[in-house]
Amino acid sequence: MARTLHILGAGVIGLSIAWRAAQRGWSVRISDQTLGSTPPPGVSASWVAGGMLAPYSEAWPGHEPLLRLGMGSLGRWPGFAAELAGFAPAGTVLAAEETIVVGATAADLSALAPGFESARAVGLDWRRRARGELREAEPGLAADLRGGWLLPEEPAADNRALLAALTAAARSLGVEFVAESPEQLPRAGTGRVVVAAGAGTPALLPELPVRPVKGEILRLAASPKTVPPPRRTIRALVRGRHVYLVPRRDGVVVGATELEGDERTGVSAQAVAELLSDAIAVLPGLADYDLVEASAGFRPVTPDRCPVLGWVDPAGADRCLVATGHGRDGMLLAPLTAELAVDLLEDAQVGEPEREALRAMDPARFLVR
Ligand SMILES: Cc1cc2nc3c(=O)[nH]c(=O)nc-3n(C[C@H](O)[C@H](O)[C@H](O)COP(=O)(O)OP(=O)(O)OC[C@H]3O[C@@H](n4cnc5c(N)ncnc54)[C@H](O)[C@@H]3O)c2cc1C
Repeated sequence: MARTLHILGAGVIGLSIAWRAAQRGWSVRISDQTLGSTPPPGVSASWVAGGMLAPYSEAWPGHEPLLRLGMGSLGRWPGFAAELAGFAPAGTVLAAEETIVVGATAADLSALAPGFESARAVGLDWRRRARGELREAEPGLAADLRGGWLLPEEPAADNRALLAALTAAARSLGVEFVAESPEQLPRAGTGRVVVAAGAGTPALLPELPVRPVKGEILRLAASPKTVPPPRRTIRALVRGRHVYLVPRRDGVVVGATELEGDERTGVSAQAVAELLSDAIAVLPGLADYDLVEASAGFRPVTPDRCPVLGWVDPAGADRCLVATGHGRDGMLLAPLTAELAVDLLEDAQVGEPEREALRAMDPARFLVR
C-alpha cells in the first residue's frame, strides 16, 4: 500500500494527524482554503478557541464517555506539548498549568456541583475552597465571589501557538500544504483520505450528523499599567451565566457563548456586553485591559457530544477516515485523536483503553447500514 495521505481540513485535528502520520513515515498533503490567511476566514474553531484542556471542569452527568476520552487525551498532553515546544514561537504551546472554578453566588456554587460529582465518580475529589484561599492563589479575583475549587490537573494551551507549532512541525517532516478546500472527496485511487473538516464535514459526508454550534469569544490585552494576566485558567458561573478566562502571555481570552442554529459569523453586541461584564465581575482588573478582538467560530458537535473517528464508506468515493465532531474539546482531544487516527490508518494493534476510546468515537453509531 502506498503510504500517501490526503487530509482535508487544517484545524487542530487535521494538523495533529498530519504531523503524527508524517512522523510514522506517511507522505502527507493537507488541504484547506484558509491556509495562508490570518485570521482564517470562515468557520475555523481552532483559530478562535480558548485552549482549555478541561475534561474535569467540562464534566457533566450523562457525558461520562466524553470524560473518559478527555482523561485519556489529557494524559497524552505533556508529551505532545514537549515534542512541539521547539516549534512554538515562544518555546511552549501551553498557557496555564492549573484551573480555578468559582461561583459568584451560593446558587452558582450549587449549580456547579453536579459536574464535580461526575469527576468524583472517576476518582478525583476536590475540596471546596473558601474565597480567601482562592484569592491567595489568584490575588486578582473579586473579593465578593462565594468560593470554588482549585484543579491542579487542568492546564490550558495557547491555541494559536499550538496551530503554529503543529504547522511548523509538520512542515519540517515534509508535509505539503495546499490552500484549497475541495467540494468533493478526492477521486478513487489517490491514496488514503482523512476528512477533518470540522463543521464543514457534512458538506463532504452528509450522512454524518455533525452540526455547527457557534461560539463567540473575546481577546483582551494587558499593558504595563494594568494588573498582570492571571496565572491560571479561571472558570466561573456568574448569576447563572458561564464565563471563562484563559491566560495568554500578553492578556486573557474571555469565552464563550454557545449558540445553536446561528449561522452568522459576526459577534453580537449582547455577547460582548455579557462576556465583558461577567469577566470583570470575576477579575475586576480586566476593566483596564484593551479589547483587541471579538471573534466567532463553529464547534463541530455530534448528537452524543463524542467525536467521530473511524472509517466510512461514502457513496461513489473510496473508503475514508473521518475525524471530527470534537465539539467543545478539540484542543483537549487532539493528541488522542491523532494517535488513534494513525493507528487506524496502519491497522495497528492497540490496547484495551484505546479500543474503548475507538468504540466511543466509532462513526458506525450514527450510520444506518
Ligand atoms: C469559541 C470557542 C471556544 C473553544 N474553546 C475550546 C477550549 O477551550 N478547549 C478545547 O479543547 N476546545 C475548545 N473549542 C473547541 C475546539 O476549538 C474545536 O473542537 C476544534 O477546534 C475542532 O477542530 P477541527 O480541526 O475539527 O475543526 P476546525 O478548527 O473548525 O478546522 C476545520 C478546518 O477544515 C476546513 N475545511 C472545511 N471544509 C473543508 C474542505 N471541504 N476541504 C478542506 N478543508 C475544509 C476549515 O476551513 C477549517 O479550517 C472551542 C471552540 C469555540 C468555537
